[in-house]
Amino acid sequence: MPDLVPYAVATGNSRGRRYPDSTPSHRSEFQRDRDRIVHSTAFRRLEYKTQVFVNHEGDLFRTRLTHSLEVAQIARAIARALRLNEDLAEAISLAHDLGHTPFGHAGQEALNECMREHGGFEHNLQSLRIVDRLEERYAAFDGLNLCFETREGIVKHCSLEKARELGELGERFLTRTQPSLEAQICNLADEIAYNNHDVDDGLRSGLITLEQLEELSLFGRHIADVRRLHPAIGGRRLIHETIRQMINAQVCDLIETTAANISQHAPRDLAAARSGPALVAFSDDSFRAQRQMKRFLRTQLYQHYQVLRMASKARRIVSDLFATFTSDPRLLPPQYQLPGNGDPARRVADYIAGMTDRYAIKEHRRLFAVSES
Ligand code: MG
Repeated sequence: MPDLVPYAVATGNSRGRRYPDSTPSHRSEFQRDRDRIVHSTAFRRLEYKTQVFVNHEGDLFRTRLTHSLEVAQIARAIARALRLNEDLAEAISLAHDLGHTPFGHAGQEALNECMREHGGFEHNLQSLRIVDRLEERYAAFDGLNLCFETREGIVKHCSLEKARELGELGERFLTRTQPSLEAQICNLADEIAYNNHDVDDGLRSGLITLEQLEELSLFGRHIADVRRLHPAIGGRRLIHETIRQMINAQVCDLIETTAANISQHAPRDLAAARSGPALVAFSDDSFRAQRQMKRFLRTQLYQHYQVLRMASKARRIVSDLFATFTSDPRLLPPQYQLPGNGDPARRVADYIAGMTDRYAIKEHRRLFAVSES
């Protein structure tokens, strides 16, 4: 790693871990956080959780695991170019989606609705709950005992009510200050990753077309460039070359705009970087083009009737499971039945949120299907 700038997060200015822990040999504290995340159970489950398409719909679509790897790749490149803490950016990226329910946003909305009387359900907070409490891997503590800065990066947004419950970690939402620059990078790297891979997956699924995308300023500009440079190519290669260029252009734009913001505000140290405005940003042009792309994806892909049909099934599965388990907790696997372990509805939510798409489908079948065999 190159020498870090003074406003980067580093071992020396970290707020540390919740429980005393040994100092790692041959690794930084943030490399250790990343390694703990990679070895967690919740991380392996991301392989079978949906981003937009349900896992069984096709082998080539993104899952939460491949999405998280793409976010990490983008965030690391940006962090390194700005001499910020690449290991921290990687750790946050790999952990940022750990708390997602099965079936993407449809699953989250359904579980949030089920949990309305019990404090709600929010995937960012669930990611934090996993790394702070639910993983059972270490003798001395629950969770992964990650550094403050990794945990802070996981909680991208949260309500003021929840922020008050989070203590030190929620302070920035109450004081309207910023998380570390590394956390800000991961947030925008997430957007770069999903906008681009949803275009790719959307085309692959046939739910959106190249003709529609060419109407958009961002895609239109880059595909025109690719056609001019490579007039002979078509098909998948044309799409991949265009998406590659879009990702690169957005990453370069983010690095250059952020570097300009940093030189304008000249934060002296980490505290100064946190107290000013958000410095990690796209240029206005790039921001506008991405907003147009997001609007297109929302109306044409995420609300496509075929996607909505799957989302409707997903909502039914999640709410059926929740209603069944809360009305008769004896149906839960024994480890989720333990008395004295908080609100029973929260235990049910933990169980459902941890399910992969296919496990939720199977569990629903086990509880509801009546057949002779
Ligand atoms: Mg994400």
